[in-house]
Amino acid sequence: MTKSLKIFEQVIETIDNAAKIMGLSENDIVFLKHTERELTVNLPITMDDGSGQVFKGYRVQHSSLRGPCKGGLRYHEDVTLQEVQALAAWMTFKCAVVNIPYGGSKGGIEVDPSKLSDKELERLTRRYTAAILPLIGPEKDIPAPDVNTNSTVMGWIMDTYSTFAGYTVPGVVTGKPIDIGGSLGRNSATGRGVMFMTREIMHRLGKPLIGAKVAIQGFGKVGSMAAMLLENEGAKIVAVSDVSTGIYSADGLNAEELINYTSDGGRARLLKDYENKKAKKITNEELLELDVDILIPAATENQLTEDIADKIRATVIVEGANGPTTNEAEKILKRKGIMLVPDILANAGGVIVSYFEWVQNIQSLMWDEEEIHRAQERIMIRAFNDVWNCSKEKEVSLREGAYIVAIDRLLRAKKIRGQLI
Ligand code: NAD
Repeated sequence: MTKSLKIFEQVIETIDNAAKIMGLSENDIVFLKHTERELTVNLPITMDDGSGQVFKGYRVQHSSLRGPCKGGLRYHEDVTLQEVQALAAWMTFKCAVVNIPYGGSKGGIEVDPSKLSDKELERLTRRYTAAILPLIGPEKDIPAPDVNTNSTVMGWIMDTYSTFAGYTVPGVVTGKPIDIGGSLGRNSATGRGVMFMTREIMHRLGKPLIGAKVAIQGFGKVGSMAAMLLENEGAKIVAVSDVSTGIYSADGLNAEELINYTSDGGRARLLKDYENKKAKKITNEELLELDVDILIPAATENQLTEDIADKIRATVIVEGANGPTTNEAEKILKRKGIMLVPDILANAGGVIVSYFEWVQNIQSLMWDEEEIHRAQERIMIRAFNDVWNCSKEKEVSLREGAYIVAIDRLLRAKKIRGQLI
């Protein structure tokens, strides 16, 4: 059994657990344990040296009950269909918990993009777009950036889709460059949401954010922005990491300097070559076990495992990544009294501003950045309060509260829509 297969099983376990608290039957929720539609594509690409290679890609739509499917696109050598299924399901619950009119989907290609040239990556992206063309569109399914994809990749998807359509369709993807219909505030949206949710939980717990020590695993689009925005709020970022190493400074790192360093020269530069007298190198595992106030996993799935959970010393965990905590680890964290803000709430900022981008595209409008930040904050605080109140009322964890809120909305939509026959 692969690691990813277990991830989808974990999603099912989480649904079952919430359903039990809600007093629902298997009949009520069985549809949530299956995806609506899955496409596997084989993508033949001519490499720069003239040789041919075939890459495998997926697009999975978990639910379109509450609106068009929405979900990112991941490029990673470990991508599997089962992983994409889990990621698609999380999108359904995420959009429901923050109450935006979308269902959930996700895409992925089994590729290590660091081994491809820019031209090869562009050919692969365009071929993938052509292959999944029947599934996507502004009213059907709207991709966005995820691990190892960015606005440039979204621009290629938008151009390929538009070429086939015969006219420009900006609303087919979100997270595009601003010049072709991207939204202000999208690049920082997920990290900004992580900051909002960290601020809210600290406030609820009566703990100061100013001076709070923060460790962040993963210094990509989500982790780096969360670091910078939390630093702006007065928190002290003592450790960050990427796939190559972690770095630590008891006096605090400088998030902006690190962002400038890692983003220098186009493709992301790894932290292993970062030199600073005040910062020492640590492993990713050491980072997770640091004596900090706030731990933010913002890399990938299954990072907080049973073994590590025992050693975690943070008082609050805010999940920037999707699925970073295993169900077994969560039981240990709960026993230890560590408060965890779950992924479907904590990292929903990205899909919220993606929603704003799509709304601007289909109405040919352009909102200003402050308006976007304000609207994102309003939606996220409302969702936080819904989840917090539900967890207090039912005496359950914030993850259980978030799933209860989401499942309730999905069941209402299902009841209203009724059956085909
Ligand atoms: P990214 O590719 O920009 O960054 C990922 C970072 O994690 C990189 O620094 C990478 O080196 C690091 N990393 C990868 N594997 C690691 C490991 N095993 N240990 C330590 N570090 C590791 O990706 P991203 O968009 O920032 O996404 C990060 C997470 O957030 C993913 O789980 C993604 O699904 C989730 N997420 C992203 C968005 C978004 O808008 N980009 C929205 C919601 C959720």
